[in-house]
Amino acid sequence: MTIHFRQGKLEAHERQAILEEVYQQAKGTARAAVKAVVEALLEAEVTAKLGREKGAVRHISGQPHVSDWVCGQCGCADAQQFTRDGHYRRSLQTGWGSIEGLRVPLLECQQCGHDVICHFTILEKYERFWLDLDQDVVLGSGLCESLRHLSERWGEAVGSSIGLRTLVLPHQPDGARVGASSPDAHHAGAAGHPI
Ligand SMILES: [Zn+2]
Repeated sequence: MTIHFRQGKLEAHERQAILEEVYQQAKGTARAAVKAVVEALLEAEVTAKLGREKGAVRHISGQPHVSDWVCGQCGCADAQQFTRDGHYRRSLQTGWGSIEGLRVPLLECQQCGHDVICHFTILEKYERFWLDLDQDVVLGSGLCESLRHLSERWGEAVGSSIGLRTLVLPHQPDGARVGASSPDAHHAGAAGHPI
């Protein structure tokens, strides 16, 4: 984004460009935050399903730890037989745009060496939730309102701070500037035309 600052107010389209830039950056930040949260939730779900933390020793008892995740090859549902096997990457659509490269855990069945079919609650049950995760849901109208006010106030501030030096009062002859030290300008100010 390039804005050429010059004398006078920001034009409406320039303010719009600034807001758009802020919005795009906010969206990027939101996607990164959502990605981190979802990945942490995926790891937490694996830990819950396996009944053991990452790196913990796998104990096999006579009592199976039955999971609702099942080996796609041999049908084993005993989580004691499942081990973490890295990640694959997928995308996730959200109201902030598409999150790319989301790291999804993979599990391997130690009975047969094939993949376990993992249905992640956070991805399936809440797919719609992530899609709805846009500015309205997450931040209400707060951020948008703030940006609007910020834009207006900034526009006014930039406009008036420059305008104080360059403002030409409409009822004055061309060239009569506010703040000039001529008696006429002083008289105009004293005659009920406050700046
Ligand atoms: Zn298997």
